[in-house]
Amino acid sequence: MSEFPSLRLSSLAVHAGRPRDEPMRAVAPPLYLSTTYERDPDGTYPRGYSYSTISNPNRDAFEAAMMELEGAAAAVAFPSGLAAIAGVLSRLRPGARVLVPHDLFQGTARMLAEQWGPLGIAFDSADMSDLDAVRRSLRAERRMVWLDTPSNPMLAVADIPALADLAHAHGAELVVDNTFATFVLQRPLALGADAVVYAATKYLAGHSDVVGGIATFAEQGALYETARNWQINMGSVPSPFDSWLVHRGLRTLPIRMQAHCANAATISAFLESHPRVERVFYPGLASHPQHAVARAQMTGGFGGMLSFTIRGDRQTAMAAAARVRLFRRAASLGGVESLIEHRASSPIQARGKGTGFTVPDNLLRLSVGIEDADDLTADLDQALQGNWQP
Ligand SMILES: *Cc1c(COP(=O)(O)O)cnc(C)c1O
Repeated sequence: MSEFPSLRLSSLAVHAGRPRDEPMRAVAPPLYLSTTYERDPDGTYPRGYSYSTISNPNRDAFEAAMMELEGAAAAVAFPSGLAAIAGVLSRLRPGARVLVPHDLFQGTARMLAEQWGPLGIAFDSADMSDLDAVRRSLRAERRMVWLDTPSNPMLAVADIPALADLAHAHGAELVVDNTFATFVLQRPLALGADAVVYAATKYLAGHSDVVGGIATFAEQGALYETARNWQINMGSVPSPFDSWLVHRGLRTLPIRMQAHCANAATISAFLESHPRVERVFYPGLASHPQHAVARAQMTGGFGGMLSFTIRGDRQTAMAAAARVRLFRRAASLGGVESLIEHRASSPIQARGKGTGFTVPDNLLRLSVGIEDADDLTADLDQALQGNWQP
C-alpha cells in the first residue's frame, strides 16, 4: 500500500501522504480551500473532486498518510476525536451492547449514555485487565468491545491480542482508542483490532492548536463503510486547514514521541522515589500491574502520559498543582508543552456520567512535554515540596 514499503517509521512519517503530481512542484502540500470543483465539458470531474464535504485533497492526504503509517486498509478523518468515535459507534444497531473499560474516556462515556443510549444501544463496563471478567461479560448481544489503552487517567493497560481473540470468538468487533500511545508505540490493527480511533487533537497534531480526529480500519468492510457514510452523510468532515495541520504534525510525531517517552520515563522514576508521592501510574514502571503486557505490545517506549497520587487529599493535590511554574494547569494532552491536571475536578470528568468510575481526589495527571527533563523534575519537585511539613 505504501509508496515506500521498506522505509522505517520516522522516514515514512516525513513523506507519507506527500503531494504527487502537484502542478507547482510544491514540497509542502498546498491548502485547497475551494468548496467546489469544475467539471469538464463532458460533465466529468477530471480529478475526482466535486464538492468538499464528499472529498477534499487535504483530507485525502491526511487519510492516506494515516493508512501508510498505521498499515491500515482504510482511514476516515473527522473534525474531532469524539466525531471519529461517533463515526465508529454508528455501526451499532438498536439492541447492541458495547463493553467498555471502567475508566473509559469520559467523553465517550457521555456520548454512549446521552446520545446512543436513547437509540437503544447499551453499554456496560469491565476491568479490561482481567480477562476472566471480560469473558464473563461477553454475551450474545455484544457487538463491540471498546478499549482505551493505556487508559485515562489510570494508565491501565489492556492486552489487545487476547481481547481481540475474545471479542472475535463472541462475534464482536474490537475498537481501540489509541490516542495515548499512537501508532508510533502501539499498532492495534496488527495486534488484531478491527478499528482504531484517535483524538488527532492530541499527539498526532501535537501542538495544542487544532481539534481533529481519525479512525483507521483493518479492512474495507462494513465497519469502515458505516464510518465513511457517517462522515459524508452527517457532514462530519474536518476543514482543509485542520486536516493540513494534523498532517503536518504527523511528520514529527515519531521524533516527538521519543522525547515524550524519555521525559515521562525520567519523571515517573523521579516521582516514584519522591517522599510526597503515594503512587505513580505509568506503564513503563516495573511496579505497574500490567507492565509485562505493556512491554509485549508497545515498542519504543510507554508514552508521555502518567498519573500519580499525592500523599494527602484533594486540597494537597490542588495546592501542588497551584505551585507549578513550567507545567501549565490545563486539560488535554499530547502537545509539546507539559500539562498538569487535577483530574477529579476537570470539566469533562466532573460531568461524570457513565461507568460509575471515580477518579481519586488526590490524583494529578501529567501530559509530559518535550522540554528538558531536568527542568520538568525541578518544577515538580518545588511544587511538591511547597510548604510541606514532613
Ligand atoms: C481527547 C480524547 C478524545 C476526544 O477527542 P476530541 O478531539 O477532544 O473530541 C477521545 N479519546 C481520548 C483518549 C482522548 O484523550
